[in-house]
Amino acid sequence: MAAAKAAFPSWSALSPDQRAPYFRKLASLIRENNDELAVLEAASMGKPLGSFFDGKAAAARWDYFAETGYIVQGTTSVQTPGFINMVLRQPYGVVAAIIPWNVPLLFLANKVAPALIVGNTVVLKSSEKAPLTVGFLTNTLSVPNNVQSAKLATLVQKAGFPPGVLNIITGFGNVSGSILSHHMDVRALSFTGSGRTGRLIQTAAAKSNLKQVYLELGGKSPAIIFEDADLGKAVQDTAYSIQSNSGQVCMANSRIYIQDTIADKYLELFKQYLETKVKMGDPLDANTNHGPQADGAQHKTVLRYLEMGKQSGDLIIGGAAPSDREGYYIQPTVFTNTAEDATIMKEEVFGPVVNINVFKTEQEALTKANDTEYGLYAAVYTKNIDRAMRFAKGLEAGTVGVNCTSPVTGKDMPFGGYKSSGSGREGEPLYTLSNFLETKSVLIKLE
Ligand code: NAD
Repeated sequence: MAAAKAAFPSWSALSPDQRAPYFRKLASLIRENNDELAVLEAASMGKPLGSFFDGKAAAARWDYFAETGYIVQGTTSVQTPGFINMVLRQPYGVVAAIIPWNVPLLFLANKVAPALIVGNTVVLKSSEKAPLTVGFLTNTLSVPNNVQSAKLATLVQKAGFPPGVLNIITGFGNVSGSILSHHMDVRALSFTGSGRTGRLIQTAAAKSNLKQVYLELGGKSPAIIFEDADLGKAVQDTAYSIQSNSGQVCMANSRIYIQDTIADKYLELFKQYLETKVKMGDPLDANTNHGPQADGAQHKTVLRYLEMGKQSGDLIIGGAAPSDREGYYIQPTVFTNTAEDATIMKEEVFGPVVNINVFKTEQEALTKANDTEYGLYAAVYTKNIDRAMRFAKGLEAGTVGVNCTSPVTGKDMPFGGYKSSGSGREGEPLYTLSNFLETKSVLIKLE
């Protein structure tokens, strides 16, 4: 914190053009080291090498935000007689960022790059579950000898960012994350993670200096499929959404509502997809597209939800850890006919587990989809344009996909949650740059 505070005056005095070269250099270093970063991620949280898009996506974000520093501007006004007034947008000072383990390189870029380009300095805490790409190496993990720990931190140093501008720390939520969220010198904090931790951070902000807090939290995202949809496409998209990254995706469509007239066919095709397309295995094997859950704790949590799921619905496929494989693997799992108020319909599992329920009418589907405390992503599949628009308007979610579902997002679109899925938006520059800028009204009295 002291280093970030000391670096702020000179960093904020630079123009965006002077800050941008460090971003571009870091982007190219991430691309050069993409394969090593992929191995580190596979080793720490089990993401299959073949599914690793994080390096390229993160590098693209650094390049993109390098160009955005001039976008946010204040306004001026001559509406007060005898005055010319203006609004200045200025950096906060030290911004903190706390990230989870499922896509760490991308979340780091999404928070740190916009904060830095407008002149803040940053302290970021990586997740204890995925410390290899972003944070440090614990000696309990076996990683091939030729890969380095704390890889991104070393690349930041190589990119030549002035000391103190971007600081990366490691450690558990309690103490490291908690210190940041209580810190009196942190003026804004951007967090991605669980709702439970989001609430603790919001409380810490209230108890300390009322820092601005932006929260990207979990989801229980619905996908609704009508009988006029392209069924093959809907099956492929929705099955991929819940299976990719072994279901450890905040916006995964974990609740699917299928119209009664096509329910049997959809279920049959969905099951077929999981049986034929999922290649469970060692994440370091290039053919694997389904790795283990991130760690023992995550594995245990998912198994607990599977037992609950069996009590409250019908098991169609999966439902356990595979018996022929060691490690924290979970079979992709489908439940049907689950009571809408069952725990598994209400809470985020963060595993390859989906509940598929049947609906008859449009109103029933919309009511069920919105009957959740979460609101991160919702999808509707239909060829009827009026219905599509009614759902685009009626679904309570920060992102709505029409004939597409998560993880589809737009580079030109803000991302974030309605309701308890969070506060604030990130990704799109007009929204995210504003998160890291104070607003000052300057009143100039004309003599
Ligand atoms: P988590 O909340 O357990 O941890 C996230 C981060 O918070 C970690 O770095 C952790 O060390 C830190 N932390 C834990 N306790 C803390 C405390 N008391 N004070 C400050 N920091 C603390 O979440 P996770 O298990 O790492 O990630 C999974 C969750 O993240 C899921 O709920 C998922 O939906 C959510 N997520 C949301 C998005 C989004 O964009 N909305 C994206 C990815 C993941």
